Amino acid sequence: MFYECNNCQNIMYKYIDLSFIIRSAVPLYSDRRSFSTSLSLITRCKKCNIVFWLGENIQSISEENDKSKCPIESSTIYEYLEAINTNLFNTKSEEIYLRKMLWWSFNDRARE
Ligand SMILES: [Zn+2]
Repeated sequence: MFYECNNCQNIMYKYIDLSFIIRSAVPLYSDRRSFSTSLSLITRCKKCNIVFWLGENIQSISEENDKSKCPIESSTIYEYLEAINTNLFNTKSEEIYLRKMLWWSFNDRARE
């Protein structure tokens, strides 16, 4: 999956791990966090350093060029915090998503 930074047009890629679908015992924590909810919708651009919504997958990029693209890593507490503090959300549901992911990210430190 390829995504374009909406600030500098840097292309970043992410391989979605869907193996949790076939796992029989997916843990669901008391705060409703499960593995399936860990797929982040925001990321930090490795080129210009802004946090942006992943948005639409860019279909036209050749996968042969993977090596020249930046991998998307799991979002951190700092990225969710920055997204909220800079009003990156446009709707109430986007704000709720960011706040919930921030809350879960804090709780992630105490899991396992
Ligand atoms: Zn960028």
